[in-house]
Amino acid sequence: MESVGERIVRLKKERKAVILAHNYCLPEVQDIADFVGDSLGLSRKATETDAEVIVFCGVTFMAETAKILNPGKAVLLPDPAAVCAMAQMCTPEQIVAAKAAHPGMEVVGYVNSTAACKAEMDVCCTSSNAVDIVSSLGSEGAIFVPDRNLGTYAARSCPDKDVVVWSGFCPIHQSISVQQVAELKSAHPDAEVLAHPECRTEVLNMADVIGSTEKMLNHCRQSDRDEFIVLTEVGMRHRLEVNCPGKRFYFPESAVCGAMKMATLETVAEVLENMTNGVELPSEMVERARRPVERMIGRS
Ligand code: SF4
Repeated sequence: MESVGERIVRLKKERKAVILAHNYCLPEVQDIADFVGDSLGLSRKATETDAEVIVFCGVTFMAETAKILNPGKAVLLPDPAAVCAMAQMCTPEQIVAAKAAHPGMEVVGYVNSTAACKAEMDVCCTSSNAVDIVSSLGSEGAIFVPDRNLGTYAARSCPDKDVVVWSGFCPIHQSISVQQVAELKSAHPDAEVLAHPECRTEVLNMADVIGSTEKMLNHCRQSDRDEFIVLTEVGMRHRLEVNCPGKRFYFPESAVCGAMKMATLETVAEVLENMTNGVELPSEMVERARRPVERMIGRS
């Protein structure tokens, strides 16, 4: 009898599909994906593929971003209930009101936001390039939405820019506490501490390296050290272990994003079989959102 993995391989060929998976996905989903990465890497991959169907293993804003970049392709989400909590902490109406309150400022929006919000932004960014994007703004200031921790980190890194920071946050990264980090450091005194900029400022202050999951991976690959305390979602452990054999990684084990675990082998096979859960966006929204997203990936 055909296994679920074999079914996916067969359907992928039949549908001329590509499977993209975020670093936080389940290990078995990462293993069947054609490409695994962070939001920036996945967005770039979405523009490079000549596949007719993109199965996006992640949360809704990621699949929407792929659709904005590929409006003519089918973009399928294994489970449409996979919604990022942070992306719900900002609305397009709030962005319009903030622009009116801060004339002359550009809206820099973290990619973890809805397509409707992206349509109101000047430029999008990811945790990989937020600092570069803010520092390169032509205007003197930015309204940074929706993540207050990444916004504060970008503002601290760009002291010549006036940055109005939104109040949203990632509940998973926000929950990583100073006490948890102190305990991990005490248990693993030789480990280097890597933190994702979605963590609170006081947690970032305890880190040796601050950066996106892709930066973490590159750092661990190149580092002479063998042990790392990794302050991000636990799904990242699999990617690190696959790419850095022999090294050891310690996580705050409570940092689990349920939405990122909703893509399973079964749901991937199901959407490929039935071509269901396709992302649909109004064409006007796609048009307006494309420019900030293309600025984010360096295409405009
Ligand atoms: S880890 Fe946080 S930012 Fe990432 S999808 Fe989950 S809730 Fe959203």
